[in-house]
Amino acid sequence: MSTNIVFIGLGNMGLPMAQNLVRAGHAVTGFDLVPASVQQFADGGGLVSDDQAAAIRAADIVITMLPASRHVLGAYLGNPLGETGILAQARPGTLLIDCSTISTEAARQVGRAAQDKGLPMLDAPVSGGTAGATNGTLTFMVGGEASALDAARPYLEIMGKAIFHAGGSGCGQTVKICNNMLLGILMIGTSEAIRLGVANGLDPKVVSDVMAKSSGRNWTLEVYNPCPGVAENVPASRGYTGGFGVDLMLKDLGLAVESALASGASVPLGALSRNLYSLHSKAGSGALDFSSIYQLLGEKA
Ligand code: NAD
Repeated sequence: MSTNIVFIGLGNMGLPMAQNLVRAGHAVTGFDLVPASVQQFADGGGLVSDDQAAAIRAADIVITMLPASRHVLGAYLGNPLGETGILAQARPGTLLIDCSTISTEAARQVGRAAQDKGLPMLDAPVSGGTAGATNGTLTFMVGGEASALDAARPYLEIMGKAIFHAGGSGCGQTVKICNNMLLGILMIGTSEAIRLGVANGLDPKVVSDVMAKSSGRNWTLEVYNPCPGVAENVPASRGYTGGFGVDLMLKDLGLAVESALASGASVPLGALSRNLYSLHSKAGSGALDFSSIYQLLGEKA
């Protein structure tokens, strides 16, 4: 049965996720601020409209995949009087799923406001990168009511292969922030290790292959190698384009540090990593893929 879905945010992740829903036979209307992304969605069979409010009123499900907390708060809550935005426009019972990575507090704020309007809402951030989004193999980390997750599951299964219920509203974001702090740290560690091998005359592919079969094995080494030319079809081998932006990783590490301050947890490596990505961004690399941190640790590739 075809479901009427509105998908807002057709960026590196949102576009392939929305395209998978289209391929599964659903009527998906896509929105983005960038006209070229909307056009690309339409070229692949997605529906487009210039009336977002009307599309939301007609939707059974609204999914968002936006950059950061402020975009999500703006999209759902609208103007200060709450007269605009998804919560004002959706029919009661419409299922709302935010897949963006944002702060736990922002997710809970929107979740509470949705509940007040009778709108079931999940925070459902993802892991797996653009390849996972394209192949429909994302991991979803979900916060919210179990009944809302039951309703969302058939659609999440089209976009992902692993779906975890982390707890109530906001808990999906908390897990995601823990994961991405580790990811940011691992990418720097992997880059350092490969750089050390190269500085000592080794071939980066040999260093990577050996470590991938040794105790230094990790996802950034095996699936997302940061050294240009070591792996095919990764951002490092296409000028660090596409993928997961430095500024998005910087945002996530900022969320991790904020969360640590609020909870009293100690995150010394998370804080150091945030500062290194901040320096990298300030040096002009904010729009590159986050594996370009490899460049900060040596001469430009
Ligand atoms: P992106 O910057 O490529 O895409 C975000 C899109 O949202 C852009 O196309 C932008 O134009 C659009 N947008 C912003 N405000 C909008 C609005 N009000 N209405 C409509 N469209 C709007 O980012 P991305 O890489 O797709 O990441 C999206 C989210 O997913 C982020 O929170 C990111 O942290 C998270 N994430 C990204 C990856 C990855 O590998 N790229 C992996 C996991 C999670």
